[in-house]
Amino acid sequence: MNKLQILVVEDDVPIRNLISATLRAHEYRFTTAGTGEGAVMEAASHNPDVVLLDLGLPDIDGVEVIRRIRSWSNVPIIVISARSEDTDKIDALDAGADDYLTKPFSVEELLARLRATQRRLALMYGGDDQQAVYVNGPLRIDYPSGCAFLDGEELHLTPIEYKLLCLLARNTGKVLTHKFITQSVWGSSWENDVASLRVFMATLRKKLEKTPDTPRFIQTHIGIGYRMLRTE
Ligand code: CA
Repeated sequence: MNKLQILVVEDDVPIRNLISATLRAHEYRFTTAGTGEGAVMEAASHNPDVVLLDLGLPDIDGVEVIRRIRSWSNVPIIVISARSEDTDKIDALDAGADDYLTKPFSVEELLARLRATQRRLALMYGGDDQQAVYVNGPLRIDYPSGCAFLDGEELHLTPIEYKLLCLLARNTGKVLTHKFITQSVWGSSWENDVASLRVFMATLRKKLEKTPDTPRFIQTHIGIGYRMLRTE
């Protein structure tokens, strides 16, 4: 795949310049916007491969920008927010953002997120989403038979653990919020039961991860949710 076309949405000029300089140095193509309205227009006219979106914008709210873009596009959106905007970050992920960066972030962090998004895009366009068998390093899920294997050995998962694993696998690379996961697995009545989710996640990890303290597959985002990582 060619280098990504990126839309940078940031009203803070020094940060926008830093991001622009970084992208230019790594030969990414990009356009910029300094407002939410401008972002929606740019997204519609330039059809970017990735959107880097600051949540604190001078006109409309970043979460609203996500909702508007999501009404017609599945473009990956990486949210950029200050640590004090944690609730906004979760709202943004629930509205359909894929990932987030917390300010202040390093240039390396930004580039790593872009590479991860690029891999996720390659996967999506490779049609992997529709495949009957999911493979991620030593992990294999056979959807038709409802079985998961690690290093060729079947994992003995409970129905809920299997559901959790499939949800994370189908969204590999994407941060899923507690709310999204509990809603998807148990329905909305469990929406705020993060404690139960944590228990199920711990038992799933015990079966899935050889070293649960340094997980290889499922990454924890404290206070936010979980993400399935792609292992090389
Ligand atoms: Ca801002």
